[in-house]
Amino acid sequence: MATQKKTAEVDYSMQEKILALYELQQIDSKIDEINKVKGDLPLEVQDLEDELAGMRTRIDKINGEIEELNTLTKQRKRETDQAKIMIANYKEQQNNVRNNREFDAITKEIEYQELEIELAEKRLKEYAAGMKSKKLLLEEAEALGGERAADLEAKKNELQSIEAETRPQVEAFEAQAAKVKAKIDERLLTAYDRIRSNVRNGLAVVTVKRDACGGCFNRIPPQRQVDIRQGKKIIICEYCGRILVADPEAEQ
Ligand SMILES: [Zn+2]
Repeated sequence: MATQKKTAEVDYSMQEKILALYELQQIDSKIDEINKVKGDLPLEVQDLEDELAGMRTRIDKINGEIEELNTLTKQRKRETDQAKIMIANYKEQQNNVRNNREFDAITKEIEYQELEIELAEKRLKEYAAGMKSKKLLLEEAEALGGERAADLEAKKNELQSIEAETRPQVEAFEAQAAKVKAKIDERLLTAYDRIRSNVRNGLAVVTVKRDACGGCFNRIPPQRQVDIRQGKKIIICEYCGRILVADPEAEQ
């Protein structure tokens, strides 16, 4: 496969490759034109997907916090039960004391456990209030998430129907592009794709028009124009980085 590609590369002169790049640009521009029908839809879909992902993270976080409060609630309740059992035991012991000193010592223990219960009950109230507000937040987040998900679904459907409509045309142009790409080596194609993604109008290959770059309209010096017409090497506009080619129509 690799050797086949190499043979193909050798078969095409630089001039032919440059011409092929220009052809590829024209085909890709036609595809870009078709895709314009989509307008901002692809961006909007992307934005909604990002927003929804953020919401899911937020919902997971709130759920985690609720779970944490649940665990703490169970823990405090266990502690309260424990303290109540201890108090009952102490009271039982008070029935069998030998003197007042022992009785008072046990009373202190009971008071301490009652204080523990009081503290735990205060915490339990705080946890319950926390859980209530977290559940409210969760409800809000889930409702908003539901709305956004519905928006996303609608926009995705719209985009899909546009894509289904334009697919035959785009596929025909893509088949043409594939044939032209076979004449261009990988390195050049990579550069072409990179330039195309960096420029606003998707034009990576432009012609020289009235002594100026067809992409950024900066003047091209006469010697560079001669080099471009010779087509022995790839010449890049020094201002905008686009690949410059001689206008094939002006040549004829
Ligand atoms: Zn330029």
